[in-house]
Amino acid sequence: MGPMKELTTKLLVIGAGPGGYVCGIRAGQLGIDTIVVDFQRAGGTCLNVGCIPSKALIHAAEEFEKAMHFSKGDLPLGITTSAPKLELKQTIHWKDTIVTRLNNGVAGLLKKAGATLIEGRAHFKDGKTVAVESETGTQIIRAETIVIATGSAPVELPFLPFGGRVISSTEALALESLPKTLAIVGGGYIGLELGMAFAKFGTKVTVVEAEQKILPLYDAELTRPVTRRLDKLGVKLLTGAKAKGLSTKGDALLVTTADGKDDKIAADKILVTVGRKPVSEGWGIEEIDLDRNGRFIRVDDQCRTSMRGIYAIGDVTGEPMLAHRAMAQGEMVAELIAGHKRSWDKRAIPAICFTDPEIVSVGASPEEAKKLSPEVKVGLFPFTANGRAMTKIGEEGFVRVVARADNHLVLGIQAVGQGVSELSTAFGLALEMGARLEDIAGTIHAHPTQGEGFQEAALKALGHALHI
Ligand code: FAD
Ligand code: NAD
Repeated sequence: MGPMKELTTKLLVIGAGPGGYVCGIRAGQLGIDTIVVDFQRAGGTCLNVGCIPSKALIHAAEEFEKAMHFSKGDLPLGITTSAPKLELKQTIHWKDTIVTRLNNGVAGLLKKAGATLIEGRAHFKDGKTVAVESETGTQIIRAETIVIATGSAPVELPFLPFGGRVISSTEALALESLPKTLAIVGGGYIGLELGMAFAKFGTKVTVVEAEQKILPLYDAELTRPVTRRLDKLGVKLLTGAKAKGLSTKGDALLVTTADGKDDKIAADKILVTVGRKPVSEGWGIEEIDLDRNGRFIRVDDQCRTSMRGIYAIGDVTGEPMLAHRAMAQGEMVAELIAGHKRSWDKRAIPAICFTDPEIVSVGASPEEAKKLSPEVKVGLFPFTANGRAMTKIGEEGFVRVVARADNHLVLGIQAVGQGVSELSTAFGLALEMGARLEDIAGTIHAHPTQGEGFQEAALKALGHALHI
């Protein structure tokens, strides 16, 4: 089929992930003539093969493990049950129904805002023209402004190419039968979130991490409870170890351990989670020669690229590769295009690792804070002293508040514990509002909640915690 007639629009957004779809919705709300294009179902990595499906699986694993405990009489709650069974196929089907509902939800939101969603793969012709290829042919779109929101894809290791037993997170989220053994290369976000979930389902998991500790992004105090839990779940952790490739038979992962010895890990599946790379090649983007930051697209504090009229947002622009950062950038760019005065002035981007226990970090860690302020105060409140945590048998963990010693301005807040992901909201708000220790300490926190740990950590930094 030959080329169709050309479309012209004020704004073309390439990619309908969290960055692109939010940009499209906001632009539509602001009355900007907007087209969003994606060759996959709306929602991007996050909704289709990332945040949402992984959290669905993590939840199912949590429930299954709980049931297993009840069946073994392990918990002191007085609840017993017969041995639970897992039908992973049904779990995956349940996850898929959530994804589909959200796909439709995003498409509906774009429509409601007045933006047009077009299915197809975009290919740059020049800085104002894009060809969109789909099954029905090629559509040329000319746009005054273009937003690149093409996201990221899993990094492949040359000696462990994806295929067969070697899988990425995408395949791990769609397995219909449970692997007996799973070797994971990379003990970062994805490796540990999914590794723990599979361990709870009953898979024998081994994690191979190149650095000396798991989750190198977080400090040791925060990751310790996670390491302990991994141990309890029977997950074997090889830190300071290097994956080398597949065994000759193809049924095991070859590694060099920290002490330089060769080892062989039997594995039905090998999940490679060593980071993600930007989708910034192979679709004509080379034609427009944008400035780069490594392979990522370089942007300024308004997400402008080196070419006038072209913005880039989300994972394609680099770390932190988080959905909520992409969304915030998408919203800002839509408002900039509408002529609003905006720039990236966020104080902090919360980061959560949905392991068991969960880890939250907003702003500076104690070490980072020491670089920002000559003297810092750190208040740490353990959940062992929190009534609500005790009622949930989830006492492992703490809330930690880091502040300047002179004026008590809060520089960072972290927590580790069961369910602390929801505390990220309060932490983020405190930092964004420029809270001082006294503001948090002086806020009445409802009882009994784990959130009280936040108030107590601030009180502790002030030298007068009440419950410890
Ligand atoms: P993406 O979501 O990657 O979307 C890009 C879109 O662009 C895709 O839909 C793609 O099809 C489309 N596209 C690419 N090229 C073209 C083209 N040429 N033409 C048309 N369309 C194109 N983040 C969190 O904040 N919290 C989490 O809990 C979390 N969990 C995760 C779990 C996993 C397993 C993974 C893999 C990621 C997770 N992330 C999480 C990261 C999160 O998914 C990303 O940060 C987020 O999706 C980035 O959004 P984006 O809009 O930049 O790009
Ligand atoms: P990651 O950067 O979190 O972790 C990669 C890990 O692999 C690191 O610990 C690194 O030291 C290790 N590594 C690198 N090369 C290795 C090698 N050859 N052998 C052994 N270990 C090696 O990356 P990821 O887990 O793939 O996740 C990708 C991105 O997706 C993250 O950066 C994050 O932004 C996003 N994500 C976020 C969440 C969340 O917010 N909860 C969840 C999942 C993914």
